[in-house]
Amino acid sequence: MNRFILLLSLILPMHTSAAVENVVNIYSFRQAELINPLINAFTQQTGIKINVVSGKANVLMQRLIDDGQHSFADVLLTTDVARLEQAKQLKIIQPIQSEILINNIPKSLRDPEHYWFGTSIRARAIFYSKSRVNPSKLTTYQDLTHKKWQGKLCSRKGSHFYNRSMVASFIHHHGQAWANQWTEEFVSNLAMRPQGGDRDQLRLIAKGSCDVTIANSYYYGMLSSSEKANDRDVYQKVGIIFPNAENTGTHVNISGAAVTSAAKNKQNAIKFIEFLTTSIAQQFYAELNHEYPIRADMSPSPLLSSWGKLVADKQAILQLPKFHQQAKTIIKDNRW
Ligand code: FE
Repeated sequence: MNRFILLLSLILPMHTSAAVENVVNIYSFRQAELINPLINAFTQQTGIKINVVSGKANVLMQRLIDDGQHSFADVLLTTDVARLEQAKQLKIIQPIQSEILINNIPKSLRDPEHYWFGTSIRARAIFYSKSRVNPSKLTTYQDLTHKKWQGKLCSRKGSHFYNRSMVASFIHHHGQAWANQWTEEFVSNLAMRPQGGDRDQLRLIAKGSCDVTIANSYYYGMLSSSEKANDRDVYQKVGIIFPNAENTGTHVNISGAAVTSAAKNKQNAIKFIEFLTTSIAQQFYAELNHEYPIRADMSPSPLLSSWGKLVADKQAILQLPKFHQQAKTIIKDNRW
């Protein structure tokens, strides 16, 4: 009898908590504080509580790999199509069925086998010094390889996923030889060894250390609303160009979501990802990081619209992962 009671006391609390707890556990590249209003709205609407663990994309991925089926994460929110594809290959995410996601997200921005779904779009644009550069002469990525930019460009390291995906898009559109030549000439135009992140390149332009760079457009948006007066000044001094509007479109990538293979709360996880694609959540989610909505029926925020029209190279997204290895080699060979 005593043993029975002991057993009950061990088992019952677990059972009751499992039955009562209506949760979804999220691994996110975005900090919980940032997405709090979104989390609250979801919980209010569904009664499902959200727990968020935030961290760098590669750290969260490694944790999912290490924890395997013991992981308590239900949803992975991360950036870059190549990383989402990697998660699929590593079998740490699983396919899901959802009419809502299929209806809300264009075909070119989600996995054909339904393992992952794009939740927002980010553009890799050209930035220039408003006082030293005439932007009308700078309309394509290829323009950056011209000799006249010798010693005028700056850049973060080529090995970063953002640059690797961009070179992958060059291989997709123009072939390996073209991409290699582009990289060689781009690197030979650099004013200094690559250092820092995208935002640092914009700051270097404002400081006069270089004239032109390539960066993700949301960093520019962040500078515009920064608490630091210096960064708001950088925003004023630097202009943005969406290259290749006339041909391939500007290189874009996505933030995306997937249900983990180990998900204990799979239905809640699906509900949460569906919620991210509702128009209200989309507006909030995209504007939060100055990204573009994933939905074709929604317009960008007023700030993003003020930068001009983005012709996005959405059709290349699903092709990028397969050129990542080649891109990595090209970047390494050219010491970018
Ligand atoms: Fe980023």
